[in-house]
Amino acid sequence: MPIAVQDPTPATPTTVPGKADAKSHPQPTHPGLLHVQRSAQAFGSSAISEVSLPAGALFAKITTATPATKAYTSVQVSRDAHIELNSDLVYCNHSCDPTLNFDMGKMEVRVVDNRPLKKGDQLTFFYPSSEWEMDQPFQCTCGAGEKCKGFIKGAKGLGRDGLKGYWLNAHIEELVQEEEQKKNADGQ
Ligand SMILES: [Zn+2]
Repeated sequence: MPIAVQDPTPATPTTVPGKADAKSHPQPTHPGLLHVQRSAQAFGSSAISEVSLPAGALFAKITTATPATKAYTSVQVSRDAHIELNSDLVYCNHSCDPTLNFDMGKMEVRVVDNRPLKKGDQLTFFYPSSEWEMDQPFQCTCGAGEKCKGFIKGAKGLGRDGLKGYWLNAHIEELVQEEEQKKNADGQ
């Protein structure tokens, strides 16, 4: 081809990284709403908001979830069921001072009730609001200061006091109530 003749640099070295990129950068699932900031570090990627919304507003409906076994990527939807999000929403990391609530009963993601979401904010939710016992507990680095719970292993064991101020899914509310009742019964 005439173009190849005119171009002194071989095409191969530039097309190979391009292909690798395409593989590791799938199509965004929520263009205009969130973008994924990818990191080479394990668990280092994050989701950044491309929109500003008032407190409590609907951010996204969860429409691509499929039943799954508990994993570090899954979200608990009831006492004994878990789903995979199958979308860029999976990049919403945990924070002890989150910007979003994941309502797994209504299958929707909303802005937290106590402050608006601003374009450029990290999209985060409080994992114990859906997870009773996390598949992979981890040391939190959310940077929320005194609000940070430290080691995040799910809602179990945090108690009413530890979960105060957080919006919780119905199954977590139920499990916390049972745990508190058991604690009281044991104490008698
Ligand atoms: Zn934290």
